[in-house]
Amino acid sequence: MRKKSDKSGLGISFFLSFFLIVILILAIGFFDLRRIITYSNIDQAELITRLLARNLNESLDGAVFGVEQLSDIIATNTDRSVETMYNEILVYKEKSLFQSMGLIDRDMKIYGDERISPDLTTKMNIRELFDSKSAYITEPYRSSLSAEMVFTVFSPVIIDGNTDYLIYGTFALNTLQQFAEVDRIGVDADIYLLDADSYNIITCRTDDDTSSGSWGSLMFEHSRMKFESDEEYRSYIANLKNREDSFSTFFTMDDKKYTQCNEKINNMDGWYLTVRISDHSLSSSQTRFRTRVTVYSTIIVFVTLLFAAGIILDIARQKKVFEALSVTDTMTGLLNKKSFESLTDDYIRKVKNPGILAFVDIDDFKKYNDNYGHQNGDRVIKKLADELKKEFGKKGYVGRYGGDEFIVFLKNTADREALKEGMARIRRELSDTELEGYGRVDISFSAGAAIYPTDAENYADVCNAADKALYEVKEEGKGKLYFV
Ligand code: GH3
Ligand code: MG
Repeated sequence: MRKKSDKSGLGISFFLSFFLIVILILAIGFFDLRRIITYSNIDQAELITRLLARNLNESLDGAVFGVEQLSDIIATNTDRSVETMYNEILVYKEKSLFQSMGLIDRDMKIYGDERISPDLTTKMNIRELFDSKSAYITEPYRSSLSAEMVFTVFSPVIIDGNTDYLIYGTFALNTLQQFAEVDRIGVDADIYLLDADSYNIITCRTDDDTSSGSWGSLMFEHSRMKFESDEEYRSYIANLKNREDSFSTFFTMDDKKYTQCNEKINNMDGWYLTVRISDHSLSSSQTRFRTRVTVYSTIIVFVTLLFAAGIILDIARQKKVFEALSVTDTMTGLLNKKSFESLTDDYIRKVKNPGILAFVDIDDFKKYNDNYGHQNGDRVIKKLADELKKEFGKKGYVGRYGGDEFIVFLKNTADREALKEGMARIRRELSDTELEGYGRVDISFSAGAAIYPTDAENYADVCNAADKALYEVKEEGKGKLYFV
């Protein structure tokens, strides 16, 4: 029994530690997730910027490559009349995303939409491009034709080592954005093109639709941006000046916190793609995420708590059962020998009032086992146990000493008659005990008793005296109660 109760103690501490570990892991997980969410702003902004920059860079590369290829094809044509070349360019334009395309000769004559000529001839130094062997892409500018922000790509048509013509192709910033699939990103990001030389910025996309394509100045922007520290601002400017490939900065504007990432554009020297994401624009998906994390972890904690509480309660209940088992005899429910001894010994030592101790033993018990079976033997033991408890339970202690032997202690009395009457009543009760399959039988028992303090002065001696009396009864024919 003792071993089992030790085991249950170990069980409680095991489950408590298991439970604490689960709570600890959940707590760590919860705070870790919160931290991830907080930093995901930056990660997400950086990721989106890189993705957009890569897409835009690839789209620009594609546009330049397209015009370059076209000029190569035209240069290999056998028919090199301007009309034929121009017609071939128009066929290409129809299939491409260029708004307008055409040819320019060394006299600055433009073969194409005439309305575009002011843009090409006044805004850039085209003559120099005839000396270049590779394609060139302009900075973004506002088209006189479409009033949109556009880029123009120039590519020399080199025939026999000479450049007599340039092919030009103009496409809108918006087209480029469509190509870069900016809208598929799904987060409200503000996108700008930033010229690190002039500190000019061109708005590509913001909440405000009308601002798309408008020019702004970084200086004006900076007056509104509140950086977390002077150091933060200085390093941002230094990164721009040093033309770092990729860098991020953090600031507050109009009471909103922003993460801004800048990625260099390959084809446009000194230009950056700048993506700005406010904490607020990421927060709705994060709030959902955070709520879910909270709900799920609460459920897990709750279930774990219930589980642990269930186990602890069960262990406590088992412990109780084990404790009860350790003071009583399992079969009869009477006190076991050990607890009877300790209770009676305590009574004799501490209370010191008189008392009667009696041993009770079933006569020829073996025969019940032998003649009626072991189960009926048990039934006989239980029957006597019940009757002893009924008769003397309230007056003192009743225990099973072992086998078919019982022990009774009546507190606060030295009255032999009381014991005798009690025994006589039990004897009557047992005289026709029903045994399964065998009908009624008469159960006889013997008892030997001694009185404290008249017969003996301590528990052990009282026991010996009563045992002696029992021995005498057994010797002299059984079925009686003897006092020492
Ligand atoms: P006596 O009159 O001298 O007491 O004779 P007895 O047959 O009662 O002899 P003894 O006390 O030696 O026999 C006790 C027997 O009780 C021995 C054992 O097999 C049996 N016994 C002990 N515990 C149990 C029990 O829990 N159930 C059953 N059915 N038998 C038990
Ligand atoms: Mg016996």
